[in-house]
Amino acid sequence: MQTKSANSPFPLSDNVAQMQPSATLAAMQAATALRAAGMNVVDFGAGEPDFDTPVNIKQAAIAAMEQGQTKYTPTAGTQQLQQAISDFYAREFDAVYERGEVMATSGGKQAIFNAVVTLINPGDEVLIAKPYWVTFPEVVIFARGIPRFIETEETGFQLTVDQIKRALTPRTKLIILNSPSNPSGRVVPPSEFTRIMELLVERGVHVISDECYLRFVYPPGEVFSAAQLPAELRTHLCIAGSFSKTYAMTGWRMGYSLAPTGWTSAMCNVQGHSTSNPNSIAQSAAVEALTGPQESVATMLQEYTARREFLLGALQDIPGIRCNRPEGAFYAFPDVRGCLKGGIKTSGEFTERLLREEQTVVTDGVGFGCEGYVRISYATSMEQLQEGVRRIRRFVEKL
Ligand code: PMP
Repeated sequence: MQTKSANSPFPLSDNVAQMQPSATLAAMQAATALRAAGMNVVDFGAGEPDFDTPVNIKQAAIAAMEQGQTKYTPTAGTQQLQQAISDFYAREFDAVYERGEVMATSGGKQAIFNAVVTLINPGDEVLIAKPYWVTFPEVVIFARGIPRFIETEETGFQLTVDQIKRALTPRTKLIILNSPSNPSGRVVPPSEFTRIMELLVERGVHVISDECYLRFVYPPGEVFSAAQLPAELRTHLCIAGSFSKTYAMTGWRMGYSLAPTGWTSAMCNVQGHSTSNPNSIAQSAAVEALTGPQESVATMLQEYTARREFLLGALQDIPGIRCNRPEGAFYAFPDVRGCLKGGIKTSGEFTERLLREEQTVVTDGVGFGCEGYVRISYATSMEQLQEGVRRIRRFVEKL
């Protein structure tokens, strides 16, 4: 009997065959490989805080285990966590969310996935502004939707209602907003956000507001959640939230969605058949994150502010590099087209040679829809930032 060779191609499903590998994971893997080879790597690739999870949150998880909270929970999360999320939005944003509109998820990523797959039919169009977080188009493609990209370079990556108006078609079903943005650090001002939502409600277009970096906005900007909008502008809205960055909890995999009850119960159905519920211990930790002391968030923001100041100043001094001022999150997204010389033609080649010649990891902008740019994560120590910038300067001056 003939058995199939282990090397025969796997018969990938059509929806997965079109998915691209994650550009951000590729950068992380490249750094890990060089480190394993004994190199002294400066890593600006990681999209996660270098801070540890605050102690009170870890202790809540230990207590949860000791108290036996180690079983399945309701699909949408424990009642305590749903309540803590709802209370947080009432306290911080004066927004009323009932239990049937709140759902805990395994990271913000699962909230986005749930929201897209419950809404999108084959051929539906989904608007995504460039530069975008790498996962957005891939999830849309997985659902057999069609990503339609909005160019924002002319406004320095600031998304405007006019750009959206021009991109809408009768087939537009959904738009994914992300403010503060990964990778550009842009923040949509509340007045523009309101105009955008007015337009979308009028056109019956659904909205996912990815608020993963919600709390990391640099003064004079202010934290703004779509939850603050009047209820009549939130009828088609799903907020995707995350504990990952705000509380330095990337590995715990905790997020949530806030959406109208019909959408939420559909998402609950999907989640019930995929991951059942988020990790029970992490859910207890998430309750503590929302209800316990919040000082760690302010401390992290202060630290990111200092790093941003240093990085922007240092990048400005490097010939050929131009960079917008990030208003939120912890990424700089410089234009490196002025450095495409010495045999380098693309930001991908820039990224590769920087890694090879100076052991410094940045992420190619192509994965975010922007050739000619690179993403630098400043969620790393000041010493690493200083060393990395020194290396980038040396690399560019050699070209
Ligand atoms: N949205 C954006 C814009 C992100 O950058 C990330 C994480 N890199 C997420 C969502 C998802 O985060 P998580 O699943 O860890 O909550």
